[in-house]
Amino acid sequence: MKTLHHFVNGKKVEGQSGRFGPVYNPATGEQESTVPFASADETRSAIAAAHDALASWGATPPVQRARVMFRFKDLMERHKDEMAALVTAEHGKTLPDAGGSIARGLEVVEFACGIPHLIKGEFSENVGTNVDSWSSRQPVGVCAGITPFNFPAMVPMWMFPIAIACGNTFVLKPSEKDPSAPLLMAALLKEAGLPDGVFNLINGDREAVETLLEDPRVAAISFVGSTAVAEHIYRTGSAAGKRVQALGGAKNHMVVMPDADMDQATDALMGAAFGSAGERCMAVSVAVAVGSAGDALIERLTPRIASLKVGPGTDPDSEMGPLVTKQHFDKVRGYIEAGVKEGADLLVDGRDTRLQGYEGGYFVGGTLFDNVTSDMSIYREEIFGPVLSVVRAPDFDSAKKLVDAHEYGNGAAIFTRDGDAAREFSSSVQAGMVGINVPIPVPMAFHSFGGWKRSLFGAHAMHGPEGVHFYTKLKTVTARWPTGIRAGAEYTFPSMK
Ligand code: NAD
Repeated sequence: MKTLHHFVNGKKVEGQSGRFGPVYNPATGEQESTVPFASADETRSAIAAAHDALASWGATPPVQRARVMFRFKDLMERHKDEMAALVTAEHGKTLPDAGGSIARGLEVVEFACGIPHLIKGEFSENVGTNVDSWSSRQPVGVCAGITPFNFPAMVPMWMFPIAIACGNTFVLKPSEKDPSAPLLMAALLKEAGLPDGVFNLINGDREAVETLLEDPRVAAISFVGSTAVAEHIYRTGSAAGKRVQALGGAKNHMVVMPDADMDQATDALMGAAFGSAGERCMAVSVAVAVGSAGDALIERLTPRIASLKVGPGTDPDSEMGPLVTKQHFDKVRGYIEAGVKEGADLLVDGRDTRLQGYEGGYFVGGTLFDNVTSDMSIYREEIFGPVLSVVRAPDFDSAKKLVDAHEYGNGAAIFTRDGDAAREFSSSVQAGMVGINVPIPVPMAFHSFGGWKRSLFGAHAMHGPEGVHFYTKLKTVTARWPTGIRAGAEYTFPSMK
């Protein structure tokens, strides 16, 4: 069994705390490695390394910082199969899905390669007579990233490429459930020529996170994970005077209008609900079927879900892999039981999935509930598994009211051929990312990713222009170079004559 490490100041560092956690292969249920959990002192040593590297990296010309990102992108592409294999081995998702998530993360690296342009600021000549003014964006300092298990490579890449390209230094605390892909990224950043201390990785649990929240040398915290933890991170970090962006959980609805193409809507729901076994913050977990769309969808979805190919992520025939841990497997099965008790109609039950040769794996098959209502726990709470709930709604207004009233507002989609309904939905729906005939409307790297309501705490979404703003402080300079006779002191508020 492998023992993993931290990565501090350009070097692998063995865990010293004596505390460790298991990392499993979810397809077999076997422990593959042991990950060290950093103590507060070990976390502080990573913060110290980032702090020491800050002045020199912040003074490095943006064009040189961008070149490191170009080299990193090239190395990531060369190691993409190895990286995808690590994601599949520890997370469980299929290899093509793992590869796709890495490609999406690399788009943020591509965006960060343009950093000289993104931070070049604005200049106004003659804001007053012979007075010029310019604005520029400067690094905020040491930034920390705390990331979830479901995208071990992509979500860190939403954060550190932009933070580092902007001239900050970084401490990443990845999920303790699948830390090997981020550790490989740390090694590749060094190989790309990133100076020691600019990127550090500390493995661990709550102790490391609390230390990042408390340490005054950390200026900004980016978090992605569950809502309860996101809210705690936001409140604690903000109270300590830090910038915080904390993305939380989701319950994404897809409204299907009766005029939609039902075959397209069914295909869209299959991928969006069951891709990555539903362990995506943009997964569609609720289909709101308006009027006659209900029966049409159920008729198409039921056989498709019942015949989903569930298997290890390494099998090219698998459409869906296992869940990440035994604990999560039990939680998702518990929700299916709760749905039955609460009176929803269980049309496809994924609890009996058994795979020969993978008896210890955490497999739950595709699951479909019909006639789910808004008071049920399977509707209100995030399940984060392959469970699709169909809610019936009589008309567009009641369907949209459901989306708007939900606690979460990450993504929302509408499937329709009616432009008026689509426009009304996209314009007024209470969600941060909206799809029109697109089930998972994840913004590209040059836009920004973020939800509304209890899916995001803080003022900034991630990556794209919002990422550049989050990781930089605005400075505006007003300058005058007096010529000739000096005017003497001015005692009134200057008007720009
Ligand atoms: P999680 O909240 O359990 O863990 C996220 C991170 O926080 C991990 O690094 C973990 O070690 C740390 N952590 C966990 N408990 C903590 C505590 N009590 N105090 C301090 N730190 C703690 O989330 P997860 O299970 O790894 O990921 C799944 C969740 O992430 C889902 O809710 C999903 O919707 C959400 N998610 C959201 C987005 C988004 O963009 N909104 C993206 C991906 C995942």
